[in-house]
Amino acid sequence: MTRPARTKGIAASIGVGVGPARLAVRGRCGLTHRRIPNDEVAEEVSRFERAVAASRDEIELAKQELTQQHGSAYAPILDVYLLMHTDALLIDAIVDAIRNDKINAQWALGRVVERLKVPLLNSASSYFRERARDIDHVKEHLLRHLSGESRSEPPTSGPTILIAQDLTPADAVHMLAPPTVGLVTEMGGANSHTAILARTFGVPAVVGTGPLPVTVEQDEIIVVDGFSGEVTIGAPPEEQRAAEKRRDRFILFLQSERTTNAVTRDGVSISVAANIELPSEVEAAIANGAEGIGLYRTEFMCLDRSEPPSEEEQLELYRTVVTAVAPKTVVFRTFDWRGDKRLRADRPRKATSSPWGSTLRERERSWLKTQIRAVLRASTEGSVALMFPMVATLDELEDARSLVDACRGELEDDSARLASLPIGMMVEVPSAALLAEQFAAHADFFAVGTNDLVQYTLGLDRRDYRAASAANPLDPAVLRLLNQTIVAAGNAEIPCSMCGDMAADPIGLGLALGLGYRKVSVPVSVVPLVRAVIRNVDLTTATEAAAEALACTSSKEVRDLALGRFGKELGALW
Ligand code: PEP
Ligand code: MG
Repeated sequence: MTRPARTKGIAASIGVGVGPARLAVRGRCGLTHRRIPNDEVAEEVSRFERAVAASRDEIELAKQELTQQHGSAYAPILDVYLLMHTDALLIDAIVDAIRNDKINAQWALGRVVERLKVPLLNSASSYFRERARDIDHVKEHLLRHLSGESRSEPPTSGPTILIAQDLTPADAVHMLAPPTVGLVTEMGGANSHTAILARTFGVPAVVGTGPLPVTVEQDEIIVVDGFSGEVTIGAPPEEQRAAEKRRDRFILFLQSERTTNAVTRDGVSISVAANIELPSEVEAAIANGAEGIGLYRTEFMCLDRSEPPSEEEQLELYRTVVTAVAPKTVVFRTFDWRGDKRLRADRPRKATSSPWGSTLRERERSWLKTQIRAVLRASTEGSVALMFPMVATLDELEDARSLVDACRGELEDDSARLASLPIGMMVEVPSAALLAEQFAAHADFFAVGTNDLVQYTLGLDRRDYRAASAANPLDPAVLRLLNQTIVAAGNAEIPCSMCGDMAADPIGLGLALGLGYRKVSVPVSVVPLVRAVIRNVDLTTATEAAAEALACTSSKEVRDLALGRFGKELGALW
């Protein structure tokens, strides 16, 4: 068979992994279909119940492992699987099918799971499609226990690259520990639980490759490029050596960048903060030298919950983050429940545009107030700011500010009631950028969300992966909105950061610096890279390039221009 074979998937966890393939065998315990006589029904039900109990124990164990290694913040990922083991729609329905249809447990399991998955798979939201995979993962665990088969064990000596069609999160906890140095899965997206776990474990990963172009042999050399999403199967020795060099260079680079300053060639300091989704990322953010948390996407704590944690629970989490980051600042973003990030209780509703503002429903308003009170209370422990997502009108911003005032009034503790808490807004819809001057008079700071701004400006659906990959922050229309925003913030003398992914891309970052952005917030893992890019950029060049880019007529023209200007400066970082 032709080697090397190459394929591309979604780059889910950065770094380069090189090593012999280890195949995570899946699906050996296929579905068997057998009708059962009346007198065997009771035993078949107990056999199924024993499998449920064993599967639950296995996931409970994985949860303990995960908590021991990475703290409790990731436990909710596995809690959802544990909950499914008691879900009437799944477990009771399978027992009913065994009893009523007189079929074996595997057949009943397959039948119920397929029925439950249909509405999820038909959903436009990748969040719900991912939930269909969660059900499949539980099915896999149950099938394994029904057939008495043991799971794949991690290698005893390494390093190895794990190749799987799919990996259940409980198996991922088990298999991603050393000596696994890379992961390739045919299924899954960048925000699947397995991808989140790969990032937590720091294992370079490419997911969602689709069927691999060749049958991978155990132990053949694989290169996983967690930057580009490329996977090489059967890499020849010279390619293997080159990949190992890149891997080592990146590891060294990460270590050396942790202590260097983010100062441009011409001596201007740029603040590089980190975006986090979960509190457990704070440690890595600090280790990578982030100057605080520029965007805390709090909605992720509600992952798979039907409602947010209580005020006390939130307070505990927030306090941990604030004290760990102090004296640097944590910018909390209130829950941003749209598209992929909705609560479970919201399933029947159609996706709405704004999570907030005049359309805010009573229930969401009360959740928001609970959250704001928790943030106010946590703010006494360090330096905290609060911002609202998707603000599109001045009324919404005013509404946001009065909610904070109302929450202050509800607090008993004087220090929390009177705590200093700058109130900012995300600039991520075109209306906010267009009226930036007016908004700047009412906001204490801006944080520009280029991910949404690009989608809304160019009319792309962020939930559609193909449309999302066509999204381009280098479009001159987007650049003009970014320019208008930073100019308005400068005139009003309020801080303005960029926390969308544009700031994590060398060209995007170069142009943002040229437009005048001096604060960025980027994913934890790219903080060192972004600092290195900054140290290689000259602001005079960047300012000229940005001015020219504003006059361009297409993103391609902007890209060519920026490549010409920054290409040499960024050299090897490219
Ligand atoms: C953005 O839209 O750029 C942003 C940072 O927010 P999120 O990606 O969470 O929507
Ligand atoms: Mg956004």
